[in-house]
Amino acid sequence: MQGQGCASEPIGHTQHLVDATVNYPRRTAQVSQMVRYFNTDVAPLEDIVFTVEANRFPQVFTLEEVTVDHEPAPAYELTGRRMTVTLLDPLPPGCAVTLGLHFRLDLPGVGEGIIGHSGYFGFTARQINLGHWLPTVAYRASGAWITRDVTVIGEQVVSEIADWDVTVHVPDSPVALKIAAPGTMNRPASNAWRFVLPGAREFALSMSTQFETRSVEAANGTTVELFSLGSTRIQTDQGLVDAADHSAEVAARSLAMYSDLFSPYPYDRLVVVEGDFPDGMEFSGLIFVGAGWFEQWPGTPQSYLTIITAHEVAHQWWYAGVGSDQALTPWLDEALATYSEYIFFEEYYPDLRDWWWQFRVYSFVPDTFVASEPVDATVYQFDNLRAYINAVYLRGARMLHDLRGSLGTDAFFTWLAAYAQAGAGRVATPDDFWTLLSAEQRTQIAAIRARYLSDD
Ligand SMILES: [Zn+2]
Repeated sequence: MQGQGCASEPIGHTQHLVDATVNYPRRTAQVSQMVRYFNTDVAPLEDIVFTVEANRFPQVFTLEEVTVDHEPAPAYELTGRRMTVTLLDPLPPGCAVTLGLHFRLDLPGVGEGIIGHSGYFGFTARQINLGHWLPTVAYRASGAWITRDVTVIGEQVVSEIADWDVTVHVPDSPVALKIAAPGTMNRPASNAWRFVLPGAREFALSMSTQFETRSVEAANGTTVELFSLGSTRIQTDQGLVDAADHSAEVAARSLAMYSDLFSPYPYDRLVVVEGDFPDGMEFSGLIFVGAGWFEQWPGTPQSYLTIITAHEVAHQWWYAGVGSDQALTPWLDEALATYSEYIFFEEYYPDLRDWWWQFRVYSFVPDTFVASEPVDATVYQFDNLRAYINAVYLRGARMLHDLRGSLGTDAFFTWLAAYAQAGAGRVATPDDFWTLLSAEQRTQIAAIRARYLSDD
């Protein structure tokens, strides 16, 4: 992390070097984050904008100091999740600047109801989750910094990929404390953990003194490591079965399958965490699957535990791999992740194909369903989660299935693989998706698009 550098060094990803000290019992963290940013634009930059997701919660994020090339920043402004840092001098194209962000986090308690869905950032009695805890450089498009307004529906972060090197110190850490985080890990000291994760949209981790771990090697060689919150064994007619074993198996099988079908998974490990909050959540190299799905698992594949595990794994392609604007075009990752669940069932549980459509889709969006919003609605067009999921995820999956029916299975999967590869490491748009079809194919599917999508 040197000062300003031009031309002499190659243009690369943004680099984050993070040193965090977590007070586990007090649920606080003191963070020093050095960010080396390369100007890949054609014009000089006068400021750098960050997305500070932690600041969407009141009294959680306290900014203490901002530096530019190791000197106090001339000016900075933090409003909601958007932080603008003024540079000392305009940063020419091809040059790099090092910004220092020093802040404190007082983690929020994981709430009930819809607020509980953001439990990937916060604490419960048995877990600390640090998802979207570190500022990311905002996405830059057409000469502007893009940040999106906060709403309770869906996600609204748009991030480019970056390289992460994160050291977490936990002074007086309880002996049983385990940290679940992606990338390569080493232990510089008995109370320190260092993780290196290149090419990732963010860096998330989870901590608990109750974690039980197991790992499964997927057929493509990736290790799936699952961190569960204590016992997940249940008694069934077939004897004692383990929900965590099942989730790890689903993760390993779906990961190998999507690697074959879309593009190779880029890391040696995928971390699966039983999250002490509803539903699930995706991060680069790490997914949360809600504790409720483990607790309610009936011991059979027909379950949300299977569905949500496969769904969150699919986000390693449709989010972590191919990024998209999660606020304005949420269907791009969510419809694909939902349809990827079906692909998983089709491959591993072909007898359950009809069950999946009935349970996951038709029971909410039957043929007679009249959608309030099109598949390509923004998150801002919804005020309740069920309507959002019905319109974007479930009708989105129906649209993709209809497209497959029209194009044919081979052409459909060739298209998805082309999108996974062309979009890897980028923030893709619907145009990027549709223009990978030939003009002839686009004519062929025009009526399906008209049925599901808005006019513009
Ligand atoms: Zn999703």
